[in-house]
Amino acid sequence: MINISQPIIEDEEINAVVEVLHSGMIAQGSKVAEFEKAFAKYCNTKYAVAVNNGTAAIHTALYALDIKPGDEVITVPFTFVATANPILMQGGKVVFCDISEKDYCIDPEQLESKITPKTKAILPVDLYGQIYNYEAIKQIADKHDLKIMEDAAQSIGAKRNSMRAGNFGEVASFSLYATKNISTGEGGVITTNDENLMKRCKLFRHHGQSEEKKYEYLELGYNYRMTDIAAAIGVEQLKKIDRFMKIRNTNATLYNKGLKEIDGIILPSVSSGNTHVYHQYTIRITPNARFSRNELIDYLKENDIGSGVYYPKPLHLHHHFSKMGYKKGDFPISEKVSQQVLSLPVHPSLSEDDIASVIDKIRTLARSK
Ligand SMILES: *Cc1c(COP(=O)(O)O)cnc(C)c1O
Repeated sequence: MINISQPIIEDEEINAVVEVLHSGMIAQGSKVAEFEKAFAKYCNTKYAVAVNNGTAAIHTALYALDIKPGDEVITVPFTFVATANPILMQGGKVVFCDISEKDYCIDPEQLESKITPKTKAILPVDLYGQIYNYEAIKQIADKHDLKIMEDAAQSIGAKRNSMRAGNFGEVASFSLYATKNISTGEGGVITTNDENLMKRCKLFRHHGQSEEKKYEYLELGYNYRMTDIAAAIGVEQLKKIDRFMKIRNTNATLYNKGLKEIDGIILPSVSSGNTHVYHQYTIRITPNARFSRNELIDYLKENDIGSGVYYPKPLHLHHHFSKMGYKKGDFPISEKVSQQVLSLPVHPSLSEDDIASVIDKIRTLARSK
């Protein structure tokens, strides 16, 4: 079976966890501090704050930006639900803006029409592993005095003009969930270059406790701490990220070569200045293709090949958001693309033969029609 994703846990991770377990310090301690330092160094940001998952990272980052009840935050409907929910957790209002068909990220052309006097921040997503159109969005943000919070859950290591993900906003969030490009099982990280924002993140992750004085609580906070057990895995995963990234890129290049010139299939496009980390290698099966998306999914499954649809329904069409007044037709690109996307296995455990066999199956299906 070729799975759509697979975490890579090797002896280094296992030994590091055993060492922490023997140490007697298993909650947040020195390993978390070591992981944060290594993470910030990798992203080339001043600070990194580790938390227990990516959703908590987004919530913490929005708190740091002072998102309060009534504030509007603009994000995309074509993303995982965890991008939008933390806005609601802070009492804010989710305002959707459609994506661009080219990079599947927030469309700068449509952003300005969503801004109102209540808009406080923009929350773009680096979907599938490439950084959103930062310069265009930043220009609009500056013009309207808005903050940016980058959802980099899928883009660790990605670059835009030599800067790494984690730098494309006042604050950024990462996820270390099992399917992400590096993983601690569950985990999350916030990066920032702003000392005050870093301090607010640390306060929020630990019950709003003062940094100076233990058992002195300044604001509402949560228990969002990461354990040293998870951080020990993270430290080892970070050492391997360049190897993982290289294999994902090689796999993507093989797909690009093998799948071009199949009628009605759109391959991923990499925006100028970007390096893509292929958290997902996502193709589109348009109505011009000889087979439907479901036919391809079933055919791959019959041949023991997993695939995934990220995401089958844009957020605004789920009851949770449609009850706020959103309806079908509001975000046509997200709606169209959600019917067409299909992600193929691209993770670093796959051999070149595995990729060749996925390509072969897709070409065979196209020829048979
Ligand atoms: C994975 C993911 C998250 C949430 O991360 P968790 O660690 O699962 O809480 C948020 N946004 C995006 C785009 C993601 O892919």
